[in-house]
Amino acid sequence: MSAENPDLAIAQAATLLPITEIAETAGIPAEALVPYGSYKAKVDVRQMQGLADAPSAKLVLVSAMSPTPAGEGKSTTTVGLADAFTLKKMSTMVALREPALGPIMGIKGGATGGGYAQVVPMEDINLHFTGDFHAIQIANNTLAALIDNHIHQGNQLGIDPRRIQWKRVVDVNDRALRSIVVGLGGPTQGVPREDGFDIVVASEIMAILCLATDLADLQARIDRVVVGFTYERAPVSVADLGVGGAITMLLKDALLPNLVQTLGGTPALVHGGPFANIAHGCNSLAATRLALALSDITVTEAGFGSDLGAEKFLDIKSRLGGLSPDAAVVVATVRALKMHGGVAKADLADEDIEAARAGTVNLARHVENLRKFGLEPVIALNRFPTDTEAELEAILDWAREQGFRAALSEVWAKGGQGGLAVADEVLAAMDTVEGDGFHHLYDPADGIEASLRTLAREIYGADDVVLEGRAPAQLRMLQRNGWDTLPVCVAKTQYSFSDDPSLLGAPTGHVLHVRDLVPKIGAGFVVALTGAIMTMPGLPKEPAALRMGVTESGESVGLF
Ligand code: ADP
Repeated sequence: MSAENPDLAIAQAATLLPITEIAETAGIPAEALVPYGSYKAKVDVRQMQGLADAPSAKLVLVSAMSPTPAGEGKSTTTVGLADAFTLKKMSTMVALREPALGPIMGIKGGATGGGYAQVVPMEDINLHFTGDFHAIQIANNTLAALIDNHIHQGNQLGIDPRRIQWKRVVDVNDRALRSIVVGLGGPTQGVPREDGFDIVVASEIMAILCLATDLADLQARIDRVVVGFTYERAPVSVADLGVGGAITMLLKDALLPNLVQTLGGTPALVHGGPFANIAHGCNSLAATRLALALSDITVTEAGFGSDLGAEKFLDIKSRLGGLSPDAAVVVATVRALKMHGGVAKADLADEDIEAARAGTVNLARHVENLRKFGLEPVIALNRFPTDTEAELEAILDWAREQGFRAALSEVWAKGGQGGLAVADEVLAAMDTVEGDGFHHLYDPADGIEASLRTLAREIYGADDVVLEGRAPAQLRMLQRNGWDTLPVCVAKTQYSFSDDPSLLGAPTGHVLHVRDLVPKIGAGFVVALTGAIMTMPGLPKEPAALRMGVTESGESVGLF
């Protein structure tokens, strides 16, 4: 095995079961299975009777402490925990996001887990998979072309080219496309205007696909998308353009969940993938619902820390989709704790119990935040090879002292076997739910400002919220159009509870700076842009692409 790249080597060495067998294990009938080759398939839920009436599985949401560049292993833990439940002979499914391709070329790596806790075929899932992201890209850009064409052909709707909010998207981290001018070259080339590209995972189409319950709901949401405003500042929707049917048609297969398997043979649905910092951060509702209908226990993941993905899972996806999680897991690592305790990345391999204990302020806040939703989280301490026994013990001791549930997770090294301790804690936590159980944190009916203030104070530890830049005018626009009672999706750095990525630990006394409010009427929420968060990432000086390639026999090299 390549020491440099154990994830890919383990995935390539694995013997996979035919996808037909995995479907059988999951209880998916042959007529609903649409194989894409031997090891991946789409599930045509329209061919499955009685899904809506199936009893719902227990739902376990995996989240994490605030991530650091050291990497926390949330997907790894999610997959390993699901394999642990499978080992315990429970009927289990795991639901995960599809990786975005752009960041894979940069520094982030893929999103199929790691070590002996992975979903496979790893290469396919990380690269083009079943083409969902391409379909989203084409659907998004078809709409962009139709908007520009409408203006070019006489602009019957009176769309103000300076107030179009529908951007183009591409699944490449391409900073050069953030701000562009289109329509240059004379009267036959369209109408010149400022435009820009976002990454596919930031597209409203991605959010819509991940929240749609069926094709009719998908079209209804697409029809509601506001693409821009007229010269009189009236909103222009996709329905006004009359192209909702075409966009829905481009997405009809992408709406179907993708079935793959874990290394432990657990059926896995990998579907949809909005980023948690710039979007709502969870796999599709269609996949989660299918997993809940087919299994007794469903494990799913929400991106980044509990302040981002989990909060959006609980306040946006669960609200729109009627989900009610039964348990939550917070992934923590000694390395991340040490970084929150002040250790530099280069020094993480050195034992430092004091710094790890100092970093627990961050972890504690994540646990306490999830308790505010009526959940009793379990800390999964993801063991890295550089961790010392003394460090691991110190953190588990600390958790016991605080009255937090915690267990060591060794799924990266041992697969499902290494997740049994966490699985037992999760089952025990579910048995001892106190109070009324799960509830949302805010009521959108109170208005966007009130929702933001609740999130800022209760989740981020801020004193207050300040609307600046375009945000105050946008708030008035939202109020004018009756959109200020939608849930809010905060676009915020993942590294800190605050909007400043350098404020590690558990900062208090800060202010949340909201610089813009963008209505996503099709998705059904308003995005609040904070800090310097970008909707089109760039590539680093030494992108991972430099180490990638393909062998004569067609195997990938350098994916991670
Ligand atoms: P996240 O979901 O938090 O982004 P991943 O599960 O994708 O994290 O893991 C990120 C990287 O860290 C992967 O390359 C994975 O193999 C590695 N990793 C995760 N857990 C461990 C561990 N316990 N020991 C060593 N490497 C790990």
